Amino acid sequence: MTERRYQRIQDVLSKRQPDFSIMAEDVYKPHNLSAMLRTCDAVGIGEVYAINPTGGIPTYNDTSGSAEKWINLTVFKTLSEAHERVKARGMQIFAAHLSEEAVDYRDVDYSLPTCVLFGNEKRGVTDEAAELADKHIIIPMLGMVQSLNVSVATAVILFEAQRQRRDKGMYKTARLDPEVIKKQTFEWLYPKEAALLAYDEKAYPELNEEGLYKK
Ligand code: SAM
Repeated sequence: MTERRYQRIQDVLSKRQPDFSIMAEDVYKPHNLSAMLRTCDAVGIGEVYAINPTGGIPTYNDTSGSAEKWINLTVFKTLSEAHERVKARGMQIFAAHLSEEAVDYRDVDYSLPTCVLFGNEKRGVTDEAAELADKHIIIPMLGMVQSLNVSVATAVILFEAQRQRRDKGMYKTARLDPEVIKKQTFEWLYPKEAALLAYDEKAYPELNEEGLYKK
């Protein structure tokens, strides 16, 4: 049982993309954020950024597959803090934004280090965020309705990115640092023990090939 789970975790972590992320700008409906995290997990995104001006951790909707367990979500109070973090990781920022200058979401390169920014359900991407983005991208809307639900837009764009990254062989070999894989494996396999060890500021033990360790 542990061995099977261990192997599954190795498989998932070997597909994670350390240079690919999203930023959710004040997406306030829990089911939308949950659905976005679920899509992130599916395309190999492990680190997500959210801007929540109230400073609180956004709540999730349990019915959405509980993807938040498998995603590291960092919440910032301001856009500039989030922007700084993403830029420090060397990522270009594409704002999914219905602006005049936006280009078709299929005509940009997601194989470069990339963070895609999504806006709030009501007012969309803020002017400040639109200004800071390297490019605006749009999913062409050919009907009467002006925009998609934010989690639907996330899925459409991230699966195009997944296609491009797959075509470039970016899911073929593990791209995360081996130490990060070890740490994440222990935390997913033994969450309670990991929390206790972290509390005591102790290192995690080495796992063998069956995912077991000496207690
Ligand atoms: N009234 C808002 C506006 O004008 O931007 C609509 C917001 S929309 C419901 C929420 C978010 O979903 C947007 O900020 C954008 O990030 C994303 N989105 C929705 N439809 C999109 C589309 N066709 N192209 C690109 N992004 C889209």
